[in-house]
Amino acid sequence: MKKRGVMTKRVFSAMRPTGRLHLGHYFGVLENLIKLGNDDDYECYYMSADLHALTTDYSDTSEIDKNTLDMVADWITVGIDPTRTVIFKQSKVPQHSELFLILSMLTPLKRLYRCPTYKEQLKEIKNKYLYNYGFLGYPVLMSADILLYKSDIVPVGEDQVSHLEFTREVARRFNSFYGEILVKPEGKLTETAKFLGLDGRKMSKSYNNSILLGEDDITLKAKVKNMFTDPLKIKKDDVGHPDGCVVFSFNKALNRDCKNREEECRTGKISCVSCKKQLVEVLSEFMKSLSEKRKDIISDKTHLKNIIEMGCQKATEIAQKTIEEIHKVLKF
Ligand code: SF4
Repeated sequence: MKKRGVMTKRVFSAMRPTGRLHLGHYFGVLENLIKLGNDDDYECYYMSADLHALTTDYSDTSEIDKNTLDMVADWITVGIDPTRTVIFKQSKVPQHSELFLILSMLTPLKRLYRCPTYKEQLKEIKNKYLYNYGFLGYPVLMSADILLYKSDIVPVGEDQVSHLEFTREVARRFNSFYGEILVKPEGKLTETAKFLGLDGRKMSKSYNNSILLGEDDITLKAKVKNMFTDPLKIKKDDVGHPDGCVVFSFNKALNRDCKNREEECRTGKISCVSCKKQLVEVLSEFMKSLSEKRKDIISDKTHLKNIIEMGCQKATEIAQKTIEEIHKVLKF
């Protein structure tokens, strides 16, 4: 594990364990996590947010633990080094729930109703009942997660920027009552923070528009076939507009040859069918390199569980220190 120096900044990031990760995770957040994890100037805490998984999957929890292992295996596959980062799960560090409760007492309800992701998810997710106290309050739990570790930096996707601002507000409010205890974190956006899904909305499993890491060739082909393209480009000779095309957004992230694709599209030298065919090849190569590595990692479940167990111990040490400071200022 890395040694903490005076200038070391603490990084916190969490993901809900909802199964295999997708390309939106990879380009939205993971690239940042890998870079920070490998940099000696940062001490990184990466958490499987299994309590958060309950906000939508409360009626069936049978997959949550398996999903944590799958997710951690994906993290390690893409390059997160478990010997240099703390990987742990939220439910095994009970201080998260305690700080959530304390912060809930200070958080105005009307502020929670105003959260853009709350409104958006209520609108988009129709197959689950979400009018629960926990779902409304999940930004408070998210704030507790971040503030518990006195995190300096939180790598975020574009859609999470508002949550980070919320966390800063919660910290400010707490500190205004009890003194400067909580650290207001800064966000770190990746270049392709909002990665598009097959239908042009943000890539998300809830929207059923994602491409998973390690997807096989047949599935890739079927998914790319359904990707949204420029509706004005019907024939090969039609001049295309790559900026509004999902295929092109994938090319921008993954294809070294993307400049040529752009030029061919704009000048009517390529059809959408062959442009998609070439994208399938690029995706297939990318997935193959990951699949081989992942096979070895997921086959040793005991090792994965040990990594998480050790991470939980380390995370608990830090979390407990913060909770003790909070007890002191609350005069408990
Ligand atoms: Fe999109 Fe390619 Fe068709 Fe252009 S040629 S609109 S980039 S799929």
